[in-house]
Amino acid sequence: MPFPIDIVLTLLEKEVAGYNVPVVDLIAAQTSDPFKVLVATILSARTRDETTAKACRRLFKKVDTPASLAEISEKELAGIIYPVGFYKNKARYLARLPAALDVFGGQVPDDIDSLLTLPGVGRKTANLVRCIAFNKPAICVDTHVHRIMNIWGYVKTKTPLQTEMALREKLPEKYWLKVNSILVAFGQATCLPRRPHCDCCLIRKYCPAIGVIARKVPGDEEGKNAAAPKKLISWNVNGIRALEKKGFVDIVNELEPDILALQETKAQPEQLSDNLLNLNGYRSYWHSATRKGYSGVAIYSRLEPLQVLYGLNNDQFDREGRVLTLEFSDFYLVNVYFPNSGHGLKRLHFKLEFNSCLLNFVKNLEEKKSVIVCGDYNVAHKPIDLKNPESNVKNPGFTPEERAWMDAFLAHGFIDTFRKFNSEPGNYSWWSYRFNARPRNIGWRIDYFCVGAKDDNRIKNADILKDVMGSDHCPVSLDFV
Ligand code: SF4
Repeated sequence: MPFPIDIVLTLLEKEVAGYNVPVVDLIAAQTSDPFKVLVATILSARTRDETTAKACRRLFKKVDTPASLAEISEKELAGIIYPVGFYKNKARYLARLPAALDVFGGQVPDDIDSLLTLPGVGRKTANLVRCIAFNKPAICVDTHVHRIMNIWGYVKTKTPLQTEMALREKLPEKYWLKVNSILVAFGQATCLPRRPHCDCCLIRKYCPAIGVIARKVPGDEEGKNAAAPKKLISWNVNGIRALEKKGFVDIVNELEPDILALQETKAQPEQLSDNLLNLNGYRSYWHSATRKGYSGVAIYSRLEPLQVLYGLNNDQFDREGRVLTLEFSDFYLVNVYFPNSGHGLKRLHFKLEFNSCLLNFVKNLEEKKSVIVCGDYNVAHKPIDLKNPESNVKNPGFTPEERAWMDAFLAHGFIDTFRKFNSEPGNYSWWSYRFNARPRNIGWRIDYFCVGAKDDNRIKNADILKDVMGSDHCPVSLDFV
């Protein structure tokens, strides 16, 4: 039976009228000024609505036009909008905005292609501004719209962009303007990204709940038997103390992982602040290199492990602080910072020996229970995993030897979880700091979650969180039940 989109959206529209209104709608209700809607939308990305609303109020006291925005320095802007997520980047975008708007005569353009030329404006923001500020047809697909439309089976897509294109074909135009507001409000209050409240959902009888594990409610038999997936995140932080200054604690609070595995922490435990050692709700475990400021791995976990294993029982590798393993009741999580084969491939031999030792270590664990191996593997497996494969065949991280080991590792029985869900090129987890590589997406996918093949059905999702800044790597994630 086709999904009854008319019935469902009509019901939800009435329902969410009583919910908190998403912040950009709220601003649109107070002003029809496209400039303010654009600024509010840029500020709202990866930020709680309440925080965005307060930052907008402070900013709009001083700024109401591109000309008045141009009079404020980037540093001052950062101070005004703090603590919105990634406030430094957003201050930079805002500082560049007046000059970018000059191209359009100082006005905010109303078409998607022009909006996409503005700093800090991606597809989602462009669609949102066109909808809200200009009341023109556009479908703004954010994670809520993408996720919920797939849960309903109304579309079957892998990315928000694919969802946008599918909805343009399929969704009646009368819903284009409002579907984002409806589903953002609904996705924040009822159909939550994790453990949605199906038990009290108004449209439960229409929803096939594809891929959903609902929250547990006492007395609800469906809930009793459902295990909630754990959200695991792996991130090469390239120096945890530097990242702390760039908002590490806020990022963790926003991402809400159950387990967070870090590589390249470059710190001894005694060098860590109380904030890092006692992150709210987490236990933390650290395995540092003996050489200060080098390598190092750590894990934050909300779940108490049965056992913590430091290293591989091999001194030449363990003094570099590269492996940390937590044992839980039904799996091991092995967090690894694989060596780099180095300039001139001087450490290729060392790396291949490390890889071989690691595989033996993992094989021993597998005899007892399931194993997840996450971290910075320091290798792009296939040509699709880096922007310029031809020019890198002899370079560290893409040599035939390193790629052959990855082949052998997966052939041993591991699933590269990201590729289970996404076979598209252009998905990277590391970008050089040089050549403006990240904005140009000249990157490599070298961070992975690999899971034993017998646990295929426990893998619920895997992703690359490319919008999370602060390191030359971005985090990668796994939802594992
Ligand atoms: S029944 Fe559950 S999964 Fe379906 S829309 Fe409602 S909350 Fe979301």
